[in-house]
Amino acid sequence: MISYDVVVVGAGVEGSATAYTLAKNGQRVLLLEQFPLPHTRGSSHGQSRITRVAYASDDHYAIMMKESHMLWRKLERESNTSIFENCGYLSAGTPDDPFIKDTITSLRTHGVKHDVISHSELQIKYPMINVPAEAIGVLDHSGGILKANKALYAFQEVFKRHGGTINDGEQVIQIIPGDVITVKTSKSTYQALHVVITVGPWAHKFLSSLGLHLPMKVVRISVHYWKEKWSGQYSMQKFPTFMYGKVYAMPCFEYPGHVKACLHDGPEIDPDDRDAVNTNDVTEAVRKYVSEHLPGLETVPSVTETCIYTMTPDRQFILDNHPEWKNIIIGAGFSGHGYKLAPIVGKVLTELVLNKEPSYDLSRCRIRRFLPPKHQL
Ligand SMILES: Cc1cc2nc3c(=O)[nH]c(=O)nc-3n(C[C@H](O)[C@H](O)[C@H](O)COP(=O)(O)OP(=O)(O)OC[C@H]3O[C@@H](n4cnc5c(N)ncnc54)[C@H](O)[C@@H]3O)c2cc1C
Repeated sequence: MISYDVVVVGAGVEGSATAYTLAKNGQRVLLLEQFPLPHTRGSSHGQSRITRVAYASDDHYAIMMKESHMLWRKLERESNTSIFENCGYLSAGTPDDPFIKDTITSLRTHGVKHDVISHSELQIKYPMINVPAEAIGVLDHSGGILKANKALYAFQEVFKRHGGTINDGEQVIQIIPGDVITVKTSKSTYQALHVVITVGPWAHKFLSSLGLHLPMKVVRISVHYWKEKWSGQYSMQKFPTFMYGKVYAMPCFEYPGHVKACLHDGPEIDPDDRDAVNTNDVTEAVRKYVSEHLPGLETVPSVTETCIYTMTPDRQFILDNHPEWKNIIIGAGFSGHGYKLAPIVGKVLTELVLNKEPSYDLSRCRIRRFLPPKHQL
């Protein structure tokens, strides 16, 4: 039986970032993925994700984001890949909207360059958006686009360069806890001193087999691309990443002349039966939004793709040791905002494996928040 220091289960962005960081820390690591790579069945595929330091009320993530952006730049250098487009992040809302107020406070607190933009200035600077007269804008200069597929591949390539092994098309069937953990897969059996579980939308099912029943809702997200009416209006030079209400949009990047605009929500699904639900009402909600707030776009999406969010009730991540078996470490419940923080997730999960004090306060990401009081020691 082959032995490793660490087996990481799940090669999405969180597992790949963790495997990469572990290997760079001298660990012998096996990264196991159930599907042949690359695949589009989980949460980490596609060409783009929004990144920003602005984190409204969740200041602990804003603190992490400052280092995360540095680590993304480091990955770019290590992999000789362009990953980050610094085109900014514009949020809009009324001045008394807690989201807007907290965003401004967070940016001020962390010394991040930003502009608070009046409605009349918004109209001049961003004629391609239309928000109510009471709304203002906040431009976070640190924000932009992460090239998701490229980033995922970069983590995996640098991981392999540091001696890591990736076995794809190999599903983990069973984990047998112990001082030495046994990992049974569809193809083989391995032993490891530690196992990291980063199985994305499959976390609820997977962790149940280890006695952990954590509240996570898996939702299908419809990823819509809307064609510009006039070419160039929503280019990256003119239009930053944008959040207003429950819809976010990105400048033309993936498909020429198309803006990606999506609802930050969707119907609950089983990740093994992802496409069994009807999402017409989601498309209709975004169509209505586009016609009201992004008037330079056609109102029928040209392309629709699918992705999955794994939501916790408080939208906080789960980053912790298994309560019973400390050598099993869990990264889950990334609640639709985990991409930008993947380098930090990799860093803190590595620290948990190495039994080091985590670099960041993880108190809001601990499993004990979901456990009955007798476990909350
Ligand atoms: C449409 C969309 C837009 C988003 N936008 C943003 C954004 O703008 N900014 C941002 O920061 N975040 C964003 N996110 C969230 C971010 O993409 C996710 O938080 C992140 O990708 C989660 O990664 P993961 O590794 O946890 O999950 P996944 O990518 O799903 O990876 C889990 C992996 O585990 C594998 N696996 C499962 N079970 C097993 C098993 N038994 N054996 C082996 N392998 C297994 C799966 O096949 C999968 O590959 C977005 C997500 C979506 C869907």
